[in-house]
Amino acid sequence: MKRAIITGVSGQDGSYLAELLLSHDYEVHGIVRKQHYPSRPWFDNLVRQAKLAGQRLFLHQITLHDTTALQRLLSQVCPHEVYHLAGQSHVGLSFDIPESTCDFTGMGTLRLLEIVRSCSPPPRFLHASSSEIFGIPAQVPQDETTPHHPVSPYGAAKSLATNLVRIYRESYGLFACNAICFNHESPRRGTSFVTRKITQAAARIKLGLESELALGDLDAQRDWGYAPDFVSGFHRLLQHHEPMDCIFATGQLHRVQDWLDIAFNHLDLDWRNYVVFDPRFARKAEPTLLVGRPTRAQQVLHWTPSLSFDAMVIRMVEHDLQWQRMRRAA
Ligand code: GDP
Repeated sequence: MKRAIITGVSGQDGSYLAELLLSHDYEVHGIVRKQHYPSRPWFDNLVRQAKLAGQRLFLHQITLHDTTALQRLLSQVCPHEVYHLAGQSHVGLSFDIPESTCDFTGMGTLRLLEIVRSCSPPPRFLHASSSEIFGIPAQVPQDETTPHHPVSPYGAAKSLATNLVRIYRESYGLFACNAICFNHESPRRGTSFVTRKITQAAARIKLGLESELALGDLDAQRDWGYAPDFVSGFHRLLQHHEPMDCIFATGQLHRVQDWLDIAFNHLDLDWRNYVVFDPRFARKAEPTLLVGRPTRAQQVLHWTPSLSFDAMVIRMVEHDLQWQRMRRAA
């Protein structure tokens, strides 16, 4: 039985990855900052599954600053694979808390790499990197060779972490990989991200629970994929016979307004009646034309997205509608 450690297991990607690895018969050790996440029902469900909890799924409450506790965990578990997904992942917030963002994302990754390097044998290591490393990119679309040009503290911290992973692979021969992820969404996405903010607001407006949605730049564009597809790419990347960095993206750009069109249309609403501009949600510097070329993932890992953009938006709206109805009934 393979053993894996996941940092950030209670987040969107971590929880999907835990489910995927458990379905592949792994023993999964998840690192969490806090023991209880009342607002994350999917994670509670996973933990409550008695046949998994304490048998094939274990949670460890450790902060990524605690090097000795991390070291102890890795030497006790002897994992075959480590998936490093934890981090403050909100670009806007990183302007307010740049120091802790850089410490956690940059230095946190370095601390883990050092621990992995000291293991015998060292586990395979995946770092969930971000398209934010490209910021204002020198080429469109971006691939694994595109130079970094971050425009936020978060992007700069991810760039440092991404380079460290490559350096540890090249210098120490570690099986260390960067999964360079473009935006990826799901019903488990945090509601401060524009995608889930829109699908949740559309559902609440439909049910008469809200009447206004305050947003920033509606013309901002991103390459938005479906999170469960991305975590299956993470797993494929660590099963490959050689370590490498790999872009995970759809290769398609959409605007924030496309989310509004699809989400509100699906509920027979016109978003123009509800959306107001709020400068608080406009960014100091906006990345431009972040769109990935996932050729390596497709050709080398045989990875393909399973859900179209429209289908993903509708799935999230349907989930939020159902969820809001359940909360109203409770
Ligand atoms: P990010 O790519 O990780 O920054 O993902 P976000 O979902 O936070 O933002 C995606 C894009 O939506 C950015 O270009 C934002 O400027 C834009 N945007 C427009 N209105 C909003 C808003 O109200 N909240 C957020 N978070 N982003 C917004």
